[in-house]
Amino acid sequence: MLIKATEVLRDYFGYDSFRTGQEQVIESVLQGKDTLCVMPTGGGKSLCYQVPALVMEGTVLVISPLISLMKDQVDALKEAGISAAYINSTMTSEEYQETMEATIRGEYRLLYIAPERLDSPSFTNRLQLMNVPIVAIDEAHCISQWGHDFRPSYRNIRKMVSLFHEKPVVLALTATATPAVREDICSQLTIDEENTVMTGFERENLTFSVIKGQDREKFVIDYVKKNEGEAGIIYAATRKAVDHLYEVLSKRGVPVGKYHAGLSDIMRQEGQEQFLNDETSVMIATNAFGMGIDKSNIRYVIHYQMPRNMESYYQEAGRAGRDGLKSDCTLLFSSQDVQTQRFLIDQSLDESRIPMELQKLQSMVDYCHTEVCLQKFIIQYFGEEDVSDCGRCANCTDTRESLDVTEDVQKVLSCVIRMGQRFGKTMIAQVLTGSRNKKVKDFGFDKLTTYGILKGRSAKDVSDFIEFIISENYLGVEHGQFPIIYVAEAGKDVLTGKQKVFRKVSVVTKQITVDNPLFEKLRALRRQLAQDAGVPPFVVFSDKSLHDMVSRMPTTEE
Ligand code: ADP
Ligand code: MG
Ligand code: ZN
Repeated sequence: MLIKATEVLRDYFGYDSFRTGQEQVIESVLQGKDTLCVMPTGGGKSLCYQVPALVMEGTVLVISPLISLMKDQVDALKEAGISAAYINSTMTSEEYQETMEATIRGEYRLLYIAPERLDSPSFTNRLQLMNVPIVAIDEAHCISQWGHDFRPSYRNIRKMVSLFHEKPVVLALTATATPAVREDICSQLTIDEENTVMTGFERENLTFSVIKGQDREKFVIDYVKKNEGEAGIIYAATRKAVDHLYEVLSKRGVPVGKYHAGLSDIMRQEGQEQFLNDETSVMIATNAFGMGIDKSNIRYVIHYQMPRNMESYYQEAGRAGRDGLKSDCTLLFSSQDVQTQRFLIDQSLDESRIPMELQKLQSMVDYCHTEVCLQKFIIQYFGEEDVSDCGRCANCTDTRESLDVTEDVQKVLSCVIRMGQRFGKTMIAQVLTGSRNKKVKDFGFDKLTTYGILKGRSAKDVSDFIEFIISENYLGVEHGQFPIIYVAEAGKDVLTGKQKVFRKVSVVTKQITVDNPLFEKLRALRRQLAQDAGVPPFVVFSDKSLHDMVSRMPTTEE
């Protein structure tokens, strides 16, 4: 059978060899084992059921959550000479009846259906008349509350499978590999966890970076200009932001399209097709765009705002470079994004899921602040161990110096403890910087020994520093009505001096200091002091410490 599979791969799909994992999945399915296939986006999951569909008798039933994706796949199959059809809500009842009858007659190798079909008993009853060797469940994480895209209809799959006289083989496929989701898929579909085929999640051709504290609009304009003619996707968190960026880039003559749920079906369809056909090079979209989009030459994905969790991020960013060529994934972070996402989470979800979503949001924020290899951070999040640094990402190639910041971390941690471990970042930063805010006084925090212990640094700078400490797991966040920061287990070792903490710091460049009038003032002051003491200026303060001082002063940025 496997030899047959290799022939099918060559004759119908025109590929010489299987990719990592494909052969294993196909073998497992052909042996009649229910199987979970976990592969990154672009890994080639579709072939794992399309090839068996041509090897086995009958019609493979594919459950797929997106109508546009279904149509694309069926069109592509037909082009390859494989008979396939789909059933979804856009068809007339006549078309529907015809397709059902043709399937029962055995005319299709594959039949794609939307999960919502399974809500209808009249549909599932007729399924039993078909010869179905395999039920393939694409985007299988939709079955899990732990996934990022829960679809209640997926919960009917198990029952549907049990209706057949001869039980079909179940093949679940997903790119979401967190251990919780994997377990859940297996238990919901009663797949033996041993029958999981999971391929590495590293994408060796992708370069990840996180950019903080820059004018995002300007960044995007410059970036798009620099990469003129290359295909790219820019993801924004809200429709408003999509519309705005679309305007900005259109005005500059960039061939750009847009996509979000507020546009009509036709506009979305058109936008998508123009992008797929390289008529537009840049697509600006909300996360509504892209699931299953098979465009291989996307050279960059920019996240204009931070998405709400790592699952979404990796899936969206992973749409870059499916052809295996070098591509960039850039996330533009600003601390407002955290509020935006909290708001969206509060709005959109039933209450029981909010704490879990907030926990996931926290991991996303940690990603934005981490100093470890970004690719490694992602893969470890998805449960892979023993990962080495990628050597490509912005953190791996960051040449800035690592400074020992243990003492400052200790200051923050002891302040958190003295404040009773029941406040958020903003309040803690205010106390540390010695703010005269009324709330600070009302709580009596201006009497604490840690009050103003980081005076001279801006509240924003200290806020960022707190985020950094959280991302290093010395502080933890408890997500209730408001996020509360506490000292985590690992933080105790920092307090006792058992653990040192290092952080990359910007070596202040000439340009910043030249632009900063404070620098000149301080130099003048230094000259004066040096003169009075009768020593050379550098004895009073080295240039470097002046740089450091200036860089710690509050700036008017943002
Ligand atoms: P996924 O569903 O895992 O995101 P797809 O099934 O859409 O990925 O496949 C991504 C791309 O990889 C497609 O363009 C597909 O044609 C291509 N591909 C899949 N398997 C192979 C293979 N064995 N050799 C070459 N290209 C492949
Ligand atoms: Mg897919
Ligand atoms: Zn790296």
